[in-house]
Amino acid sequence: MLPPAITLASANANKSREFETLLSGVRVEPMPAGFKLPEETGHSFYENARLKAMAVREQFIARASAFDGKVPWVMADDSGIEVTALAGAPGIYSSRYAGENATDVDNVNKLLKALAGKEDRHARFVCEIVAISPGGEQLHATGALEGSIAAEPRGGFGFGYDPVFVPEGYSLTVSQLSADEKNRISHRARAALDLLEQLRGGKSS
Ligand code: IMP
Repeated sequence: MLPPAITLASANANKSREFETLLSGVRVEPMPAGFKLPEETGHSFYENARLKAMAVREQFIARASAFDGKVPWVMADDSGIEVTALAGAPGIYSSRYAGENATDVDNVNKLLKALAGKEDRHARFVCEIVAISPGGEQLHATGALEGSIAAEPRGGFGFGYDPVFVPEGYSLTVSQLSADEKNRISHRARAALDLLEQLRGGKSS
């Protein structure tokens, strides 16, 4: 059954709004002020999403009296880009590919350099979501967007690797698409849809 609300393991209100649009019918709330996210020490997107969802759930349990003794549904996502010719890199290190304080432009430039002269430019965006019910049942949802890395950045919309990612079947980069179009095809949209179907069907993994 669809829960009326779910808490996202993120303090970023833009991210919770984005998921609220994708998970139509479910209110998505950012985690309460004072909650902390753990270090992302997992070895996969799934492990990192699970670490975040479990950490936020544990904080609700530890502060139960402040929340009427109720533990809400919680969810966390982790995403990034996997490049085939780079054996799946940058993967879970996508946001810090060019270093701890790397900007999106630094990361994109490093990726273009790493692919210079390589014929295989296939890549995929991946998003893994872990949701935990009030009773502790875990759901695992996943979504991917296949594509390729362009020769150079194009377009002004989006973030991260959007300016160099051309989705399969498109000639434009994600940065040249409209927000609506990206939200229709993105890895996050597909993972959210997978989660929505599991929530509706009561399926778990
Ligand atoms: P996060 O887990 O959503 O914070 O994403 C980690 C990193 O993956 C981001 O900092 C980006 O570099 C990359 N990434 C994830 N999703 C996207 C996307 O939709 N477009 C471009 N880059 C993305």
